[in-house]
Amino acid sequence: MRLVLLGAPGSGKGTQAERLKQQLAIPHISTGDLLRAAVRAGTPLGLKAKAVMDAGQLVSDDIVLGMLEERLRQPDAASGFILDGYPRNLAQCAALQALLERLGQPLDVAIKLDVPSELIVERIAGRAAKEGRKDDTPETVRERLRVYAEQTEPVASYFERIGKLRCVDGVGELEDISRRVLAALPQTLTA
Ligand code: AMP
Repeated sequence: MRLVLLGAPGSGKGTQAERLKQQLAIPHISTGDLLRAAVRAGTPLGLKAKAVMDAGQLVSDDIVLGMLEERLRQPDAASGFILDGYPRNLAQCAALQALLERLGQPLDVAIKLDVPSELIVERIAGRAAKEGRKDDTPETVRERLRVYAEQTEPVASYFERIGKLRCVDGVGELEDISRRVLAALPQTLTA
């Protein structure tokens, strides 16, 4: 199963991706995690990305695509993957399609978690208190939500146009949301 999880920052993508990873036994590939690892490791690329991430803006398409390709070429991704945080704009949609074609691994489905914006702000505040992420400060969160509305929302329409989008209600108990996500997957691939 090759799937993309879509949703605003704080919509629960990361949490649902971790659950799906267990259920489907395929890796969870988060471009945010890959970037944070590069920042922690202090690689030249990480140093470049850090300021952009701290400001809540998007790291350059080239950098993220390079990291993603390297990750997707690792053997564990050959059996499928859950992509979280990518694509984030329309240029990345085209880049992803070309990359997956090159790898001979076309996408099966894009699942969008729908969560109203009042709840998003509440959830991110909760996460900030728990995880202390540097880009969860109120100012950065505002910028990330602005960038999401401007650049990432059109990504859902792109997947809708190519007939791969499924929307899931992302409000409620974790277990219930998980069940809805599983039910939205192409059943022939989960059997
Ligand atoms: P996330 O953990 O997905 O919320 O990502 C954290 C931050 O990493 C984002 O606010 C961006 O600065 C950066 N980032 C993650 N994924 C991407 C991407 N696909 N394109 C550009 N920047 C990204």
